[in-house]
Amino acid sequence: MKPLLRALLATALLFPGAAAAQRIDTMEIRASTFFLSSDLLQGRGTGTPGERVAALYLSSELQRLGLQPQGPDGSYLLPVPLIAAHIDDDATRLVVRRGADSTAFVSGRDFVVNTGGAGAFHDFGGEALLVGSAEGAARALAGAGSLRGKVLVTLGPLGGDARSLIPDWIRRGAAGVVVLIPDPGTLALYIRSRGDTRYYADAAVDDPVWQPDLPVLLAGPAAARALLADAAVPDSVLRGKALATAVPLGRSLDASIRVALRDVPTANVAGLLPGRDPALRDEIVVFTAHYDHLGISTPDARGDSIYNGFSDNAAGDGMLLAIAEAMVRDRPARSVLFLFPTGEERGLLGSTYYAAHPALPLARTIAVINLDAGAPPAPPTEWRFAAGASSSLGETASRITRSHGWKVVLGGASPNSDYWPFLQRGVPSIFIVPGGEWEGVTPAEKARLLARWEHYHEPADEWAPDFPFAGLRRYAELGLELGRAVADAPARPTLSATATP
Ligand SMILES: [Zn+2]
Repeated sequence: MKPLLRALLATALLFPGAAAAQRIDTMEIRASTFFLSSDLLQGRGTGTPGERVAALYLSSELQRLGLQPQGPDGSYLLPVPLIAAHIDDDATRLVVRRGADSTAFVSGRDFVVNTGGAGAFHDFGGEALLVGSAEGAARALAGAGSLRGKVLVTLGPLGGDARSLIPDWIRRGAAGVVVLIPDPGTLALYIRSRGDTRYYADAAVDDPVWQPDLPVLLAGPAAARALLADAAVPDSVLRGKALATAVPLGRSLDASIRVALRDVPTANVAGLLPGRDPALRDEIVVFTAHYDHLGISTPDARGDSIYNGFSDNAAGDGMLLAIAEAMVRDRPARSVLFLFPTGEERGLLGSTYYAAHPALPLARTIAVINLDAGAPPAPPTEWRFAAGASSSLGETASRITRSHGWKVVLGGASPNSDYWPFLQRGVPSIFIVPGGEWEGVTPAEKARLLARWEHYHEPADEWAPDFPFAGLRRYAELGLELGRAVADAPARPTLSATATP
């Protein structure tokens, strides 16, 4: 063996990541994110023509890579039937009454109609009952019996707790829910992100988190003041401490919700890479990266109203395509499904629909790896794995990450991206999230990079020729290495005993 060759081989053995690194094509990520976040796709809003062009692009890439279509018509499109509820902000009102006083609040300014299912968009009213934070709500209502004629008021969003709370509240007859968002900036983000239309699946999907059959309003600071002023609520509770018992607020709420419904046929996009091992190829590892974004919405200070979603989630799509390309060249033992869900920004709609109506059985789906956490403008040296504590995928991810000398944080699960509906159905799932420590970047440089490139859910989240793609390359390499490890492992990943799917 020639000395140079021996040296190269030794390098590959010492640094297995270096070999994996060479298999991610940065130009592939650069090119696909360029196309997907173009203004011509108008922000890839769920069910819009721009989103359909994005689906066409992904389909043609999957075709180029030779992946197998999974759609019922032999295409790469898996239909997702949605219904859009367009909110008439002028006719949608929230009124707080206290004795003879009443204050009316404006939809899209003071409060936001939250996402919901078919049973969420109707008028409701009743006595306001404060149940505190989501975590303490079940205990606060334990002795309350029937909730008929009650509007439940929570401090902060329900998050994953909605999974148990909402079905209980519907059973007990609650009229509706008002979630208090006292921070104006947070309310503004909700207004921007939710837009004027809500979407839900036109099918049974069992999703009380994003598609509850109960009306939920997100009320900002003005409505919060009207509801809580002089109420017998301890300060500690307003600061987040759980309530021992629900507190009647001594006022009532009336909400009129006016929507116009229409059908929105859309689709997930998916291609399958069959595994090379006949004994293992019936089992499937799924990579997910949603391809929708927010479409056209509130203009920013520059007058730009196109939410291009470069980092969210054209970046994830580009990484998935680059990972697929690397895996096509060197097929893993198990099969790998590359799934691009629609409607993530509208409440994980595409992934939730897929999990309820999968193209390939969930019993044979051994893992889900989700990429949807922005585009780090430098190579991260720290990684977080959401839901990493929920299954043995977290241990595998930790081992790989530490082998590169990078830091690891294993986190819990929350309904914030497409891995969630799979985890709810018992499929080990993980979400790779770049951490805040970057290689060779001084604090001053980091501040500059963040100011230039960090534009979560803003029209300025755009592709630019000078974006440094080394961070996305490392992100994709880590995804590739984890996916390969799981797809080649002798045994399937297992859920943790503490996981609560
Ligand atoms: Zn996203």
